Amino acid sequence: MLSSQQSLDVNTCRICHDDESLEQLVEPCECSGTVALMHISCLEKWLTTSNTRSCEICKYRFPLQTLNKPVMVISLAFMETVA
Ligand SMILES: [Zn+2]
Ligand SMILES: [Zn+2]
Repeated sequence: MLSSQQSLDVNTCRICHDDESLEQLVEPCECSGTVALMHISCLEKWLTTSNTRSCEICKYRFPLQTLNKPVMVISLAFMETVA
C-alpha cells in the first residue's frame, strides 16, 4: 500500500498543467485518462493558436458549435472571413 501516491490523483489540464481549482476540467475528445482532461478556455486557446479543429492525439474533430463560447464563435468567424 503506497498511500503517498494519493497526491498524484489530482486531475490537471494537459495544456496548462493547472488543476480544476479555477476552472472545471472537461474531456472534450476521445482520449482517455488524465491526458484527456483540459480546460475549455485552454482548448479554445490551443485550437485558435494551432489553427486546428482536431485532437492531435486521437484525431477527434471537436464539435465547436456545441462549446457555446462567444470567443470561439468570434475567432472561427474571423478565421473563415480571412480564408
Ligand atoms: Zn488549462
Ligand atoms: Zn484526444
